[in-house]
Amino acid sequence: MGILRDFIDGVYNLLIGLGVTAKRLPKPAVTLQYPDQRWPMPERSRGIVVLLSDKETGELNCTACLLCEKACPTSAITIEREKDEQNRWHAKSFTVDNTICCFCGLCEEACNFAAIKMATKYEFAVYNQSELVFDMKKLQEIGRDVPYEPIPKKKPVAPKPAEAPKTPAAAPTAPAANPVAQQATPQADTAAENSGKSAGKPESEAGS
Ligand code: SF4
Ligand code: SF4
Repeated sequence: MGILRDFIDGVYNLLIGLGVTAKRLPKPAVTLQYPDQRWPMPERSRGIVVLLSDKETGELNCTACLLCEKACPTSAITIEREKDEQNRWHAKSFTVDNTICCFCGLCEEACNFAAIKMATKYEFAVYNQSELVFDMKKLQEIGRDVPYEPIPKKKPVAPKPAEAPKTPAAAPTAPAANPVAQQATPQADTAAENSGKSAGKPESEAGS
């Protein structure tokens, strides 16, 4: 009895599976034949971290400011830096450990020089785990064809002209005459009014 029940259940489940297949068969496939076919990755997808280079000179955009290293929550970035002849910092070594990178994108957010970016590349499988630690050269090489919006370079600031000696502040204007003094007092107004009235009146009326 148990065997018969198992057989019926098996046939039933098989028919369900065949039904799903028959239902999907006329519709276009939603999967790709990887690696022969690939999805185009969205521009802001978070793939592998790369270093960007100046399109004209080919040099790294990185100024070794260490902001990305400080922003990285997993300490996947390690930078060693040194000063060049012009007393400017540059990266001596720059490594990203992809075994601990969580692809959060905070390094790209922190960088002010369009120097580090999460590319749309995602194929970096290797046989040896140690190969997942990318050094500066590799990070630069895989970032060479990554498009980015270069940051306009700052124009050199012209030195300020020597400041002219300050002219003495203009002498304060004479304070306005005391407005209170200028204001006619009500008593004076009244007196003037009375005198005017008196002057305009005939003497007979004025004297009365
Ligand atoms: S993506 Fe995140 S975890 Fe990976 S290196 Fe950048 S900041 Fe660190
Ligand atoms: S990649 Fe950007 S944030 Fe990181 S050290 Fe270089 S310039 Fe600074």
